[in-house]
Amino acid sequence: MGKLGHVTGLRANGEEFPVEASISQIEVDGQKFFTVILRDVSAQRRSQEQLMLLKTCVECLHDMVLITEAEPVTEPGPRIVFVNQAFERRTGYQRDEVIGRSPRLLQGPLTQRSELMRVAVAVRMRQSMHCELLCYTKSGETFWVEFDSVPIFDASGRHTHWVSVARDISERKRAEADRHGLEAQLRESQKMESIGTLAGGIAHDFNNILGSILGNVALATEDAGANTAVRTGLSQIDKAARRARGLVQQILAFSRRQSQELVRQPMRPLVEDTLGLLHSTLPAMVTLGATLSDVPVHVNADTIQVQQVLMNLCLNAWHALPNGVGDIRIGLETLVLGASAPAPHDAMPPGRYAHLWVADTGSGMDRVTRGRIFEPFFTTKAVGEGTGLGLSVVHGIVSAHHGGISVESEPGVGTTFHLYFPACEAVLAVPTFDAAAPAPLGGAGRHVLYVDDDEVMVLMVESLLARAGFRVTCCADAREAMACIEATPESIDVVVTDFNMPHFSGIDLAEALAKLQPGLPVVISSGYISDDMRVRARAAGVHSLLNKQDTLEALAPRIHDALAGTARQA
Ligand code: ADP
Repeated sequence: MGKLGHVTGLRANGEEFPVEASISQIEVDGQKFFTVILRDVSAQRRSQEQLMLLKTCVECLHDMVLITEAEPVTEPGPRIVFVNQAFERRTGYQRDEVIGRSPRLLQGPLTQRSELMRVAVAVRMRQSMHCELLCYTKSGETFWVEFDSVPIFDASGRHTHWVSVARDISERKRAEADRHGLEAQLRESQKMESIGTLAGGIAHDFNNILGSILGNVALATEDAGANTAVRTGLSQIDKAARRARGLVQQILAFSRRQSQELVRQPMRPLVEDTLGLLHSTLPAMVTLGATLSDVPVHVNADTIQVQQVLMNLCLNAWHALPNGVGDIRIGLETLVLGASAPAPHDAMPPGRYAHLWVADTGSGMDRVTRGRIFEPFFTTKAVGEGTGLGLSVVHGIVSAHHGGISVESEPGVGTTFHLYFPACEAVLAVPTFDAAAPAPLGGAGRHVLYVDDDEVMVLMVESLLARAGFRVTCCADAREAMACIEATPESIDVVVTDFNMPHFSGIDLAEALAKLQPGLPVVISSGYISDDMRVRARAAGVHSLLNKQDTLEALAPRIHDALAGTARQA
């Protein structure tokens, strides 16, 4: 039999239709006949056209289409019989490379096992499925798909194929990850914000308490005379109160509530001063050394904060020394970063830097610890021994100085922290409080008016100043203080006032005094000094602001400064 080919038929109504003609020869009783069979193939044509349309449509889709056989349901799974162009484009596999293979070729080590289990169960149950999967391209790049699969059954109800459509959702997943990252950052900064608010809130009261504890301990120590037992007890109280004072400062610095006073100054004297402090803090078993370059390098730095950074690093170094024995070395050099030189830290633009380092021969850290040390509250120390704030404070301070920090550490070898502070041009340094001229001894009968609503503080300051040779008048609030000055205008030489008092703050009092008796020096003492307070105090002509917790050591020298008219801005 041979095919004659396609011809066009004509129906009675004049409509044309496709006909497939075939011819065969038969022999009946030795006579040959030809049989011509004409078949109306309109339905077949129509379905062929529809198939073509569907195929074009599937090929035009941006989504990946994948058809697999129904069997086997167990390993290695159904074989691929069709993939569209979108599949080829996204996965990098050519059609020929995947036909006959299992869709598992798209899985990789990060593909979620839980989802794969769900898929395997759905395949066994011959149920439709929907899932989101992490897939791998031929070159190993990962991408996310949203995946829908439906089982296809033939007319007899036999399951023959799976048709799966997979949409690339990598962008959405990235956006979700970014959003989660941002949300985490936001939560973190909200946490920091509330810790900051809390810290700022408690610092004031807490510092008042610490100020009066430290002051009273000092007075009681004087009164204790030669009584060793009492003196030992008092010295323990003093030690504990100083630790608590340090902690409050740490929390304030960490929550950036501590205002920053950037002063252009040479770095070396600042480091040398801190070395002095460290020598008296660290035990004799620790060998503290320094390698300080003679090349001058100036920085815009807050003296107290840089000292705090070095103190925190050195205390950590000490704690890391086995049995507290070993070496700590502080180094300083100038580092010039060129455009092509690799920066030791990401955020460091080319330029000159003061490179400070603190190296120890301590226990060192493993990779996991190294990765977490700057996290607030991360500590490997026992409860009560570590707060996990030290390095967060260091990080916060260095960042606030636009500097960088990095760490090198190996377990059993030691640790070196590198700090980079942007260098600036040298100009005459403005003397900081610590560098101020030493106060003359004794109060010489000068009359101090001390204003504070805290009775404990009043009693302590009164004794402290009286013992230092001052004449002291104390008032519980600003109105009383104003009345006192009005009554004896010439008698008061200097006013020291608490900041936080009900109705009339220390600054309100200073403003009123500036009108009532211009030129009368005013010192404001506060447990918490904010930038805003500094601005108002400066405008009100206040001589200086004193951290209340430093009353014991700093009040008398500060009064001398104020009396001597030593320039000291609030
Ligand atoms: P804390 O000292 O209160 O634990 P830090 O933030 O200062 O808090 O330090 C966090 C952790 O970093 C420490 O608990 C310690 O594990 C590690 N660390 C810091 N400095 C050093 C160092 N010099 N050597 C070894 N480990 C250190």
